[in-house]
Amino acid sequence: MIPYGKHCLSEADIAAVVATLRSDWLTQGPAVPRFEAQLAHYCQAREGVAVNSATAALHLACLALGLGRGGRLWTSPITFVASANAALYTGASVDFVDIEPDTGLMSATALAQKLALARRDKQLPTAVMPVHYAGQSCDMRAIAELAAEYGFKIIEDASHALGGGYRGEPVGCCRYADIAVVSFHPVKMITTAEGGMALTNNADYAAAMRLHRSHGVTRDQQLMTAESEGDWYYQQIALGFNYRMSDIAAALGASQLQRLDDFVQRRRQLAAAYAHPLGELPLQPLHIHSGRDSSWHLYPVQLRLEDIGKTRKAVFDQLRARGVGVNVHYIPVHLQPYYRAVGFSRGDFPNAEEFYRRAITLPLFADLGREDQQHVIEQLALVLGR
Ligand SMILES: *Cc1c(COP(=O)(O)O)cnc(C)c1O
Repeated sequence: MIPYGKHCLSEADIAAVVATLRSDWLTQGPAVPRFEAQLAHYCQAREGVAVNSATAALHLACLALGLGRGGRLWTSPITFVASANAALYTGASVDFVDIEPDTGLMSATALAQKLALARRDKQLPTAVMPVHYAGQSCDMRAIAELAAEYGFKIIEDASHALGGGYRGEPVGCCRYADIAVVSFHPVKMITTAEGGMALTNNADYAAAMRLHRSHGVTRDQQLMTAESEGDWYYQQIALGFNYRMSDIAAALGASQLQRLDDFVQRRRQLAAAYAHPLGELPLQPLHIHSGRDSSWHLYPVQLRLEDIGKTRKAVFDQLRARGVGVNVHYIPVHLQPYYRAVGFSRGDFPNAEEFYRRAITLPLFADLGREDQQHVIEQLALVLGR
């Protein structure tokens, strides 16, 4: 089975991990701050806070921006559940903004309309979390203009988009966001097995995230309520978590980062190679806006089901039976039983629901070979009856 996504490890990556295993530090050593500095530099952000998942980074970002009981976060329904869950962890409530049908990205127009209503009802969001679905940035400039007008914070869920660009700058630079989060899960752009990082240009947010990453414990005299009792002394000044990244993971991430540009270039070539043959088939690839360099984390397409005469399930099952490991991104979050139980229902975000109904994700990853991609295209043409 050709998977829809897969990590790409080199001998250098393995050597970096082994070297860490032979070192004095498996965790809380030098590899983590080194990786943070390297990734922040790559993204042109001032600070990076490495953690053991992007979910943890999103949670820390929500806390740093003051989300909590009575707070409100708005995100996209076309995302992984972690985006919305991160805000619920803080006690805040979650709502969604519908998508652009041709990109799967949060619609800045829908956001503007929802904000106008929320102002009238005195229910404005504390923060908005656009999701860079499949690797293409959302319309961050428009969203940032709305943030200035309505006074909300912005967290970019850039889990898909490390290595991508927006208006000539790298994703993660935080020109239009307070905090941006990337993921290092194996299917993402680079991997640490499990891991994530929060990027920011704001030193206070970075300090708050570092504090909450490690139990809310500090050794910084300036933050303590009393004089240190000795070199062993620390104080817990907030209720934090253990969200730390290990040095083993950070060493892998730093090694992978050296090949990120190659990965993106390879994914871009593969996406370009899909474009022409798929143009003959009853489906629609994602529209890419000008000024946005997708990282091509995913290659989702929208099936023209009325021209195919089969359900999406039939197309999915037949492709899987032919060795093409397609997937579906995403089941709209508001339709999950957990979210229905807090009041969401079918029909709330019609563009997202229609997008899901037609969505199927084709294999795309840095190591995908030409012949395997050719196999995907041929099997797809057969299953779609062309
Ligand atoms: C993968 C992903 C996450 C969570 O990432 P983890 O590192 O697995 O916690 C969050 N949001 C989106 C959009 C993702 O794709």
